[in-house]
Amino acid sequence: MRDHFWEHYPLAELTSEEWEAICDGCARCCLQKLEDEDSGEVFYTSIACSLLDLEQCSCSDYPNRNINVPNCVHLTLEKTAEFHWLPLTCSYRLLHEGKPLPGWHPLVSGNRESIHDAGISIRSFAMLEQGGEDLEEYLMLGSGLRI
Ligand code: SF4
Ligand code: SF4
Repeated sequence: MRDHFWEHYPLAELTSEEWEAICDGCARCCLQKLEDEDSGEVFYTSIACSLLDLEQCSCSDYPNRNINVPNCVHLTLEKTAEFHWLPLTCSYRLLHEGKPLPGWHPLVSGNRESIHDAGISIRSFAMLEQGGEDLEEYLMLGSGLRI
């Protein structure tokens, strides 16, 4: 990977390895969400996809994620129009909006744990989906967590 590539090249010019490295590992995008049908606004819940390894905040079946979880979105540059539903802290969204990566991003800190230490990852509060949950009961509205 090129030195500080995220500061020098737009998303469109990243190699596939650099593209993957942009992900901060927060797993916020793996939380279940509800969409307001009228406004299109997306609301996050504290329930995470059952395929998530919550301790690692990584997908337990990354190669097959789109097969096993049909609504799991594989982020690509062509899908930038979908970035609006991503968490406000998502690195792809930040770079797409011309913003810098924050200090807790592992690329910046040089430490994979910084995403957890800063409380950005979902490790400390999320629960894995068991099936049958009423997601409305787990909406994080008013929780103070800025997703
Ligand atoms: S929200 Fe963005 S940065 Fe965080 S895990 Fe998902 S894709 Fe990666
Ligand atoms: S399939 Fe994997 S990447 Fe997709 S939402 Fe579930 S845990 Fe996240």
